Order: sequence, then structure tokens, then C-alpha cells
Amino acid sequence: MYKVKEMFYSLQGEGARSGRAAVFCRFSKCNLWNGREESRATAVCDFCDTSILGTDGQNGGRFATADALASAIDALWPTQATPASSKPYVIFTGGEPLLQLNTQLINAVHALNYEVAVETNGTLPAPSGVDWVCMSPKADAKIVLDRCDELKLVFPQAKAMPERFESFAADYFFLSPMADPIIDFGPDDKKNSNTAKALAYCLKHPQWRLSLQTHKLLGID
Ligand code: SF4
Repeated sequence: MYKVKEMFYSLQGEGARSGRAAVFCRFSKCNLWNGREESRATAVCDFCDTSILGTDGQNGGRFATADALASAIDALWPTQATPASSKPYVIFTGGEPLLQLNTQLINAVHALNYEVAVETNGTLPAPSGVDWVCMSPKADAKIVLDRCDELKLVFPQAKAMPERFESFAADYFFLSPMADPIIDFGPDDKKNSNTAKALAYCLKHPQWRLSLQTHKLLGID
């Protein structure tokens, strides 16, 4: 049984594949926070900005089989997409998707010609067959993945500063500023914002690239 919080079709807003159309499948639950506000202060990850409990979001639900979930994902890919050869793309995210993503589901979406990406906190092993791994380490949570395609670090995190990850086996390194609105800010706030700090870090450490949540700037999902 797969528990999905929500699913939607949109553009990837962050990282190396920013701007690419994808079906997002957001699984319920995470292993670093139970999703309840009263537990946030004691959670390993305390800055989650999404609702990770339940199956009540847009197109969310419980799916008994991998084929049923793969079909529901495929129903969101535009039938009029042109050219017809456009590679369909699904991003499994969450919550922590590796609590639920398994080989059966990967095989089921591969059988529908999908390229498969996952956005994970890196603390659980990944099933084989994932085509693109985006890992976003959190605080001092132990990482078990030994490589990823892109490492996206929310910045700043006192217990997870970029120096800790600069030797990790990744093709791309991104800093994603910890949420603070970067628009409608006064000049002083702007100067001290997490975005400004991340920008300054990237200028000093060119291994890292700045990743903005362009989907939020655009006001899309
Ligand atoms: S690891 Fe990700 S999904 Fe889990 S609580 Fe943190 S931000 Fe939310």
C-alpha cells in the first residue's frame, strides 16, 4: 500500500533540472519528523515547510499496487505533450520518499517510459533503478547513500554546513536558502536574509551553486 499526500503536474523549480516538466508524487510521512507541530522542536529536521501527514491533498490517496499508482501518475502527464517522444518524468518526493518507493513502483513507471527522480534526505537506502537522485541532507542525520546526482543543502543549518559535504560523490552542489521571503523585504532584511548569506557563500565557494525555489517565486505548485 502506497500512501500519497498529493500528486500534481508542474515544473521542477530547483536544482540542476529546474524548469523541467514533471509529475510530482509526494508521499506521506518522513523518518526525521512525525509531521506534528508539537514535535517540531525536538525533531531531527525542524524546518519542514510542507504538510507530510495524511493522503488528503490534490490527487492524494492510498494505492494498493505499484501499477495502480503508476497509472495515476501517468494520468497527470499531458496527453497532448509534443513532441510525442518527450520523455515523461516523475519526481518522487515527500515526506521521505524512500520510506515507500520500491523496485516494483520504479519498474511500473519505467514500463510507462518514465524517467524516475527522487528527492531524499539520504538517510535510507535507495532501490535500484532510480535515474536521478537529489539528496538534501538534514542536520546531523546519518547519511547512508554513497552518491547522488545533485546534493541540495538547505542553508544555513548549524549542524549541516556545506563544508561537511563538499567531498560527497555528487555531480552538482546546490545551496537552497532556508525559507525567508526574498521579495517584499526591506533593504536591511534583504542584506541579512538567508538568501544573501547563501549567495555570499556561493561567491566564496564556487563549488556550490545557488538554487532558488523558482516555483514559489512564480506562485506555482
Ligand atoms: S527531511 Fe524533508 S520531508 Fe522530512 S521533515 Fe525534513 S524537510 Fe520535511
